[in-house]
Amino acid sequence: MEGLFSLLLFAGLFFLMMRFGCGAHMVHGGHGRHDAASGNDTDPVCGMQVPAGSGYAKSHHGVLYRFCSRSCLDKFDADPQQYLGKEKEQS
Ligand SMILES: [Zn+2]
Repeated sequence: MEGLFSLLLFAGLFFLMMRFGCGAHMVHGGHGRHDAASGNDTDPVCGMQVPAGSGYAKSHHGVLYRFCSRSCLDKFDADPQQYLGKEKEQS
C-alpha cells in the first residue's frame, strides 16, 4: 500500500510540474512579443545575443534593452545615444 501511495504522490507531483511548465511557457509567449521570434535580445553595447529572462534589462524611451553583463548596462547608461546610434547605422 505504501508503494502505491508514493507512486500516486509522484504522479501527482509530475502532473503539477507539467502543468506549471506549460503554463509558464504560455505566459512567456504571450508577454514576449518583442523577442518571440528568436527568444533573444541583442545587447546594444557588445552585440551579444542575450536570452530572454537572463542578463540585465533596462527600459529606455519605452523600449526594453537587454545586456549580457552589468558592465554593458553601465556603459549604455553612461551614453545611450552612442549605442543606439551605432545600432541604426548597422541596419
Ligand atoms: Zn554585453
